[in-house]
Amino acid sequence: MIRIENLSKSFGSTHVLSDISLDIQPGERIVVIGPSGTGKSTLLRCLNFLDAPDKGRITIGDLTVDAASASKKDILGLRRRTGFVFQNYALFANKTAKENITEALVTVKGQPKDKAEARAMKILRETGLEAKADAYPASLSGGQQQRVGIGRAMALDAELLLFDEPTSALDPEWVGEVLDLMRALAETRQTMLIVTHEMQFAREIADRILFMDGGRIIEEGPPSQLLDNPQDARTKAFLRRVG
Ligand code: ADP
Ligand code: MG
Repeated sequence: MIRIENLSKSFGSTHVLSDISLDIQPGERIVVIGPSGTGKSTLLRCLNFLDAPDKGRITIGDLTVDAASASKKDILGLRRRTGFVFQNYALFANKTAKENITEALVTVKGQPKDKAEARAMKILRETGLEAKADAYPASLSGGQQQRVGIGRAMALDAELLLFDEPTSALDPEWVGEVLDLMRALAETRQTMLIVTHEMQFAREIADRILFMDGGRIIEEGPPSQLLDNPQDARTKAFLRRVG
C-alpha cells in the first residue's frame, strides 16, 4: 500500500504542489497528465526526496515518512522503495551500462559488488541489452540509454517505479522500444506512477489516469472515463490541446 497525504511543495513564493493526496494499490499502474509547469515532475521528485516536500506524509509499505521530520534514514528508505526513470536518462557518462546498474544497487541497496553485478547482468538480459553491458552511454542510442535507465530502476526491486516523461527526450524512432519495455513491466503488475504525454499508451496500460493542473489533482478515473468523458473544464481543454 502506498499513501500520499497532503503533500505540499513551494519553490520560494511559488506554490508548486498544493495538498496532494493519493492512495496507490499494489500493482496499480497510474498515469499522470497535465499541462507543463503544473507540478508533475515535482510530485514524483518529492516522493523520493529528490525535491524535499514542505509538508505531508508518504507511506510506502512499512515506511511512513513525515516531511516535517524526515531523517536521512527515512529518505534512504524511500529511495530503496522507489525507482526513478528520468526524461534525460541520467546515466553516468563514465560508466558502462552494467556499471550504471551495479552502482545503483551498491549505493542505494548496499549490495556487495559481485551480487550487484550478477543482478545487473540479469536485468540487461531481460531488457535485451546483454550485448551492450560494457558499452558507455555515448555509444548507445537514446532508446538503449533509456532502457538502461529503466533497467537501473527495475534492478532495485522497488515497490514503486516513478517515470518522468521517459520518452519525451527520444527521437521518434526510439519511442516504441521504450514503451514496449514499460508495457512488459506493466504486465508483471509492477506498481508504476508514470508522467507521460503518450495518450495511446496511457489508455492501454493505465488502471487510472490523474489530471493535474496548478499543483492539484483536478480529476481522476480509468482511461475510458477520464479520456472519453472528462468532467472538469480544465481536463477537457487540456485533452483538446493534446488531441
Ligand atoms: P511539470 O513537470 O508539470 O512540467 P514541474 O514540477 O517541473 O512541472 O514544475 C512546476 C513548477 O515548479 C514550475 O513553475 C517550475 O518552474 C517550478 N520549479 C520546478 N523545479 C524548480 C526548482 N528546482 N526551483 C524553482 N522552481 C522550480
Ligand atoms: Mg515535468
